[in-house]
Amino acid sequence: MGRNRIAALVATAIAASAVIVTQLPVANATADEQIYVVSEAFTFDEPTGDANVTTAAKATADTSCSDATYALKTWKVGSLTWLYNSAGVPSNIAGTALNTITASTNTVAKGANRCGQAALTTSTYTYGGTTTLKPQVSSNGTCTGNDGKSVTGWGALPTKVLAYTCTFYNARGVVVASDTLIDNVAYTWFTTKPANCTGQQYDLETTLTHERLHTAGLGHVDQAKNAAQTMTPASSPCDTSRRLLGAGDYAGLKALAGK
Ligand SMILES: [Zn+2]
Repeated sequence: MGRNRIAALVATAIAASAVIVTQLPVANATADEQIYVVSEAFTFDEPTGDANVTTAAKATADTSCSDATYALKTWKVGSLTWLYNSAGVPSNIAGTALNTITASTNTVAKGANRCGQAALTTSTYTYGGTTTLKPQVSSNGTCTGNDGKSVTGWGALPTKVLAYTCTFYNARGVVVASDTLIDNVAYTWFTTKPANCTGQQYDLETTLTHERLHTAGLGHVDQAKNAAQTMTPASSPCDTSRRLLGAGDYAGLKALAGK
């Protein structure tokens, strides 16, 4: 499969929030260590023009801990070391972004959830420090290669895409690297929710928890039916309700641990 074909498939994935698995030849992979790449985008909800109604509707139908729906991908994390490239971090969160990304990573590592369920210990995520290496994600929302390093950083992404993760895993289904690019052009981020949050401002912690769940091996659930889970394909402005895992997100991690 040629690179142009891969690019076309990924473009389809963004539009449909679908899942694409393609085989990407890697020069130094041996036959039993073929590397696969999967890309996932976290998009934003279209503003409804009536935020109060949306908020009220969610409050009366909170299924955080009653909905155990999840979707598994074909990979899982054993031990993963991740790096942070601060180039391009928005100035308003320059001092807090790394702590927030670390918090999200730890949420996924431990299965920290909204439902009082026990911590998980089956995967290990280690922060390996800062780097000048760039996440291998293009501004078009394509995966551009695998240097074997898992880098989280900042850059331009396609319209409506808050963040984009490319995950590489081997023939045994174990993640070897996972890069996350966070938009630093179109959207305003916060790490502490502003007192009067309005407009296109998004919660970094929720977004990174979502992206790390992709790295961990979870796919998307239904935007409407599973609205309280962190793994819906889209996020709403100012929403911080899904920083920790819902029952479905947690059940998904437990299922991955049992694979
Ligand atoms: Zn996603």
